[in-house]
Amino acid sequence: SWVWLNEDYCPADQAWVSVFDRGFLFADGVYEVTAVVNGELLDFHAHMQRLQRSCRALELAFPWAVETLQQIHETLVARNQLHEGSVYLQITRGNPGKRDFHYPDVSVPPTLVVFTQSHNILQDARVERGLSVVTCPDIRWQRCDIKTVSLLAASMAKMAAQAQGADDAVFVTDGLITEASSANCFMVTPGGKLVTRALSQAILPGITRAAILEICQQHHLEIETRAFSPQEACGAREVFITSATTFVMPVTRLDGNLIGDGRPGPVAISLRNAYLSRFGAGLQR
Ligand code: PMP
Repeated sequence: SWVWLNEDYCPADQAWVSVFDRGFLFADGVYEVTAVVNGELLDFHAHMQRLQRSCRALELAFPWAVETLQQIHETLVARNQLHEGSVYLQITRGNPGKRDFHYPDVSVPPTLVVFTQSHNILQDARVERGLSVVTCPDIRWQRCDIKTVSLLAASMAKMAAQAQGADDAVFVTDGLITEASSANCFMVTPGGKLVTRALSQAILPGITRAAILEICQQHHLEIETRAFSPQEACGAREVFITSATTFVMPVTRLDGNLIGDGRPGPVAISLRNAYLSRFGAGLQR
C-alpha cells in the first residue's frame, strides 16, 4: 500500500524515519484518526482543527494547508482502494540528528506520516452484544486533552482488560471515570438524562463526543456535562463510549456488573444511527 512521508507518496515498505526522530525518542508528536466509510472521510475538518490545537499546545510547527492534508487523505484512500477503515496522520517534531530534551530550532522540519488501514467499522458484532469493560486507575499524564502519540498507558489498560477477559478499559481518577482507553464515556441515568464528563485537561475532546452532543441538542435531549463514578454507571440505564472508528458503542458490563438489562440500550442505538445518518444514506445498519 501507499503512505505519505514528509513530501511524497511512498510505498509502505520503503517509508523510513530516522532513529533520531523525536517521535521515536520522546513520543514527541501528535496524531489523528479519521474514519472512512464508503470511501468518504467522516468529520475530516473537525479532526484537522483538533490536530492544529494539539500542535499549538506543544509548539509544534504546522506548515501545511488543511486542503493539502485533505488531498493527501483522499489520494491515499483512492490509491489504496480503501472502502472502509481509517486514515492515520502523525506529526512529530522531526529529526535533530541527536538526542536532546530541548526542542530543536525551527530549521528542523516536523515529520509527517499518513497511512490508511482497512477494517470493517460499520458491521461490528460488538454493537449487538455490547462491550464488557473494566475500570483501571488513570495513570496517564495531566494533559490528556492533547492527542499525543504517547499511548503506553492506554495500551497497558487494554492489556489489563484483555487479561480480565474484557473488551476495553475505562480510566478512573479520584473515584470518577475520566474516559475509556481510546474513547469518551457516556451514561443514561435512571431518570433518562444523558451524562458525559465536561471537557478539561483530563480527557480528549472527542470529535464523536462533540457530534453526539450536537445531535442531542438538535433533538432537545437533556444533557448533563459532569463526571460520574463507576458505581453510578453500574446503576445507569445505559452506558456507551464514542470514538471516530467505533462511533457509538454500547457498554453492557462494567467490572462484571450488568448495565440495565445487559443488552445495548435504545439511546445508544438511536444515537449511533443518528450519527451515521449524518454521513449520507446507506450507512445505517
Ligand atoms: N479519548 C481518547 C483517550 C481517545 O484516544 C479517543 C480516540 N482517539 C477518544 C477519546 C475519542 O475521540 P474521537 O471521537 O475524536 O475519536
